[in-house]
Formats: sequence, C-alpha cells, structure tokens
Amino acid sequence: MKILVINCGSSSLKYQVLDMNGEVLLAKGLVERIGMEGAVITHEKIGMDKVKNVTPMETHKEAIALVLEAIADKEHGVIADMSEIGAVGHRVVHAGEKYAGSVLITQDVINALEECTELAPLHNPPNLLGIAACQELMADTPMVGVFDTAFHQTMPAQSYIYALPYEYYEKYGVRRYGFHGTSHKYVSKRCAEILGKDIKDINIITCHLGNGASIAAVKGGVCIDTSMGFTPLEGLVMGTRSGDLDPAIVSFVANKEGLDLDGVNNVLNKKSGVFGISGVSSDFRDLETAEAEGNERAKLALEVFAYRVKKYIGSYVAAMNGVDAIVFTAGVGENDMGMREAICKDMDALGIKLDSEKNAVRGKETIISADDSKVDLVLIPTNEELTIARDTLEIVQG
Ligand code: AMP
Repeated sequence: MKILVINCGSSSLKYQVLDMNGEVLLAKGLVERIGMEGAVITHEKIGMDKVKNVTPMETHKEAIALVLEAIADKEHGVIADMSEIGAVGHRVVHAGEKYAGSVLITQDVINALEECTELAPLHNPPNLLGIAACQELMADTPMVGVFDTAFHQTMPAQSYIYALPYEYYEKYGVRRYGFHGTSHKYVSKRCAEILGKDIKDINIITCHLGNGASIAAVKGGVCIDTSMGFTPLEGLVMGTRSGDLDPAIVSFVANKEGLDLDGVNNVLNKKSGVFGISGVSSDFRDLETAEAEGNERAKLALEVFAYRVKKYIGSYVAAMNGVDAIVFTAGVGENDMGMREAICKDMDALGIKLDSEKNAVRGKETIISADDSKVDLVLIPTNEELTIARDTLEIVQG
C-alpha cells in the first residue's frame, strides 16, 4: 500500500509518499508561503532532481491540490492516479488526554481535536485544515491522525501533575503533555533493534535535539517522563525557546519591559533560548562559528544548552533507576558532534563514556560510546514520517 503523509503548518506543509511494501520513500516535498506572495511547492521524486513551482495558492486546500497534482504528475509523480494512495497519515500536534495512540479520523475525532485547539492554538488549527482539505479532495481515502502527544500519555501522574491548585488540571487540563512523541517512539524502538535487545527489558533516554528540543525517559518501551510540558516551551534550552525557568520571572519582566502576558510569552518562545543568550543566532552552526571567532556569549549559549541536557539525563537516570542507552537525534543531536561531546563530558560516574573517534560522524545510525562505557550511546536519525506511515498502515489494515 502507498501512503501519503501530511504535516501541515500554518503557512507551510511537508509531505511524503511511501510504499509500505518494503517501506520505500517514493517522493517528498515542501509547500511554503501558503496564502502569501511567492508561494512555492518543491517536489522531489526520489532519484530525480527537485522541481520548484512558484504559483499562487490562497488556502491549504489549494496547496494540497498541488501536492496531489505533483505526486500524480507524468514525469515527476509516483502514482498513476489517486486510487493508488491507500490512506493518508496526518501529523497532529495535540490530542490532549483523549488519544494515547493513532486513530482513524472520524467526525468524532475531529470534534475532539477541535476541543484541544485551546491547548495548541498555533499548531492544531493548520493540522485540522490539512485534514479537511484532504477529506474534500480524497473523499474515499481513509485518514489517520498521528499525535505528537500520544507516546507520552503513558506518563504516571507524578510526572505530569504540576504543583498548582489541582482544579486547574480538572477544569482546564493544565498538566504536562509532552511533544515530539512520534520521534521519541521511533528512535527508542530503533535503538532496541540496533542493540539487539528487547525494548521491554531496557531503559532508554532519548534526546531529540533540534530547533525544538526535548528529552524522554523510556522504560520498557513506555514513556515515563519527558521534558516538554503543557506546551513545547518547558524543559531544555532550545533555538529560541527558554525551556525551564523560574515562573516569577514572567511578571518581573512584564513589569520591567512594559509587556503584557502575551508579550512575555512571545519573548520566551521566540527571543530566548540559545538565540536569546548569544544574540547571534538560533542555529548551532552559526553559534559554533561565532564561538570559534571568540564570541563569549555564543560559547555561553552552547554551554547552557549542553548543561541543561546533562542535568535532564541525570534526573532520568534517577527516575528509571539506571539507563542502558542514550539516543541522540534531530538536527543538533544527529549532526553536532561537539555538542554530543559537551553533553557526555564527565559523565563516567554514571557509566556514560563517549568515544571521540566514533563520535566524529553525522546523520547516520551508529554507536558512539566507548567500548568500556556501561551505557550505550547511539546516534539515530529520526524518521517521524515513517512512524506516521507505519501507524497509518496498521490502523487502516485493522
Ligand atoms: P531540526 O529542528 O531537527 O530540523 O534541527 C535544526 C537545527 O539543527 C538547526 O537549527 C541547526 O541548529 C542544527 N544543525 C543542523 N545541522 C547541523 C550541523 N551540521 N552542526 C550543528 N548543528 C546543526
């Protein structure tokens, strides 16, 4: 069966077509600037050059119509007609407490996801627009929702309850949810396969370090804690997000800077993180270049980032009473050997020892721990689209 995977953002969407017979990626692409001037679709049939088409598209429906045209194109397409697509898998950010796994999309599911919009006001609306557009354009094709929050629904209450008045949880759903679940699920499963171990028998810490960053404690294949919380702002330092901080800073900064609460929220999400500390960039490559040129704040930003990851690893070792493997994934985790080295430095008391030579690698599955490290350190490129396609196949095949 061929599966179309759709990841719809507010003004952009990513897509892939996979042949699940052998899990082969056939085509992928990106639509950018939906509803803006200069809207563009970049499509790539695997094995051929990318093709770019700058063309106006006002709505997500028009964007998805162009995607469907591209994948059925005579020269660059990968299907003869739409009936070859057996199902569509949609990435959806927030399913609240409603879904602990992927589901076939029905009107009830859409209603439930609309209720979660308040919890993810930036993400769920475009996800839902993508689903509605596909339903209109591919009325007979089953749609599956795969949720960023689902993998973390196994967290026990001690991990997800904030020390706030309990009625905020009951009335408003204020609790920790966690995000990047599809990635944490994929790499934890893959890690057990690479190590030749049963995932039920091991404790894994998965570090998804990209522009957004989160870390998860996966015990016996089940997530028991993760660093992102009510929103993707909590936890690690990120490209432009602060991660953990003293909540009293919010009102202090609001008063000092003359900002309202939305203004402070904007600073914490868009102007903080390694960008905020360095004043240089949210991109780790720029920070490393600046550090090499002697920029002290870029150096500090990288140190703060690494130290936060290190502290979370330590806390998850405690939470799981030990760890067998630590996975590094996403843009920084997969590519930034200097950052992996900084995180793992001086962790031998916990049985964590990186091998610098094995670590001199980027973007491929490999073990980077020293032979005498008690904990396996594993680099695994994440593959959220494949996980979405696998879940979609499983659900439509019942
Ligand atoms: P992601 O959000 O997973 O796509 O990760 C994007 C981030 O990965 C970028 O903002 C960069 O900071 C980082 N990144 C990508 N390639 C490299 C590299 N070669 N070295 C260091 N950081 C990288």
